[in-house]
Amino acid sequence: MRVTWKQEADKLIFNFELDKDDNTDEFRNPAGAHRMHKLAKKSFYVRIPKSIHFQSPHPDSIALAITILLGVFIGKRLAVQEGVSLEFKKVFEAVTGKTISPVNNKLKPRLTKSNFLPALAYSGGVDSTAAMSVMPDNTVLIFADRVDKKDQRYNKSAVYSAIDNLTKKERHVIKVETDIEYVINPITFAHPLAPSIPAILLSESLNLDTVAFGNLLENIYGVLDNKFVYPDKSVFTQYDKLFDVCGISAAHVTAGLTTFSTSLITNGAGTADIAQSCMYGEELGKPCMQCLKCLYKVLYSRIINNQPILDEEIDSLFSSWAVAKEFKSTPTRVQNAYMHLVSQIDSKHPVIKLLRKKLNTDTYTTGWMNGWYSDSKTLIPNQYESQIVNSIKEFVNPMSKNNREFLEQWDLSRERRSIRSHYWTWRLWREFGKRYNLYNIEIGYKSATTQVGTRTKVKVYWRKSIIFKEDITKKVSWGSSNSKVAYAKDGYVYAKAKGSTRIRANHGRASAEFLVRVI
Ligand SMILES: [Zn+2]
Repeated sequence: MRVTWKQEADKLIFNFELDKDDNTDEFRNPAGAHRMHKLAKKSFYVRIPKSIHFQSPHPDSIALAITILLGVFIGKRLAVQEGVSLEFKKVFEAVTGKTISPVNNKLKPRLTKSNFLPALAYSGGVDSTAAMSVMPDNTVLIFADRVDKKDQRYNKSAVYSAIDNLTKKERHVIKVETDIEYVINPITFAHPLAPSIPAILLSESLNLDTVAFGNLLENIYGVLDNKFVYPDKSVFTQYDKLFDVCGISAAHVTAGLTTFSTSLITNGAGTADIAQSCMYGEELGKPCMQCLKCLYKVLYSRIINNQPILDEEIDSLFSSWAVAKEFKSTPTRVQNAYMHLVSQIDSKHPVIKLLRKKLNTDTYTTGWMNGWYSDSKTLIPNQYESQIVNSIKEFVNPMSKNNREFLEQWDLSRERRSIRSHYWTWRLWREFGKRYNLYNIEIGYKSATTQVGTRTKVKVYWRKSIIFKEDITKKVSWGSSNSKVAYAKDGYVYAKAKGSTRIRANHGRASAEFLVRVI
């Protein structure tokens, strides 16, 4: 891959060209919940904020930013515009197994001074706010602000008002407009560390020596996929040595904290009211209550604050397809978070009762989720280690010996073959079906038909919209059992003649069939 970059007014614009051996296949993206993603375009930009006196980044820092964002596509070699230092080249080749050119033998690696500042790749979510809460007060919070295109479900008003609140409290917060998430399709970061790219490119301008992340124990130690592993080969730490050689060390400050213990931190530090992990809510303090983040983050905070959880709220969450579909598999992803939730929640709601059975909360204990895993302190740069560790301990206790052992032996792979868990999954889905029409999507048709040329058009409608209360007819793929006489498209059935035809509507793994009679 060959990458060039230029500065045009306040924009840093990067363009890249692929070599024959570069990878353009779909890839499983750990930054996108392990869904498949594909390269979508060959350029990206970062806009320099007006408040900054811009200084060109060190060539090593530019190469680091490129490696993080495009590493998954680079085949054997990376060619950059400006030569990197020999030290960077050595580490790059050791870390990636690929080559980089050109090398500028005269170039020294970037040096830092003792008065340099730490930064945080800030997102506005609970985990990122917890990271902020344990970092020094002079940490520069840098938000990679995705430029708006046609992407309506993503609502930034919560993070924007959090940024306003923090600015009023005299925290140094910077929004950096960028389109790095559009490099792949579906849109998101191409690597879990990509939110740090603005900080890396501004490291010279802002005198930064560290960039921190809010990635959790579940990410870094593999618990998300239901088995504890040491992070030697983790994508979250794979570039740590490259960060070091660029004089901007990666600080995984929340690596020993769980989905639950970060909530303990934001709650204890008084920052919970500015943290909202939900990206679909209307504004700060109004999460959507229909997404997975709301399921555990909002309910955790209720548990911590001894606030009641209403049956209507549970119904709102589980009647959403985005939430319900997570509970089809056995085990689910990040099952520990749901286990911890339903074992602590004070509710007699039938869905919660069935979830306790399905998730097998009688067999596994999740007490370790209340604590801090102290081995993770090696993932914090030396100069900040003691300060950050002391801050964490103010709010969260280190895990007991028993809990550490429980965590290190965490392995839910047996659940995959457990007849008991599969039985309760089926019972839970029967309940979803009865309660929310989730896998029995009902469709109907209006009796009025209109003549379109020689065809008859029948309006088909959904009795219940299952996703975010919006009209989903556009998101559904339609088919008919007899394509010779009828076809279905955009919520209409088109039939050539009188008769009847069976129409199938598919959405995700849900499908519904309906008999349409054309008169
Ligand atoms: Zn939400």
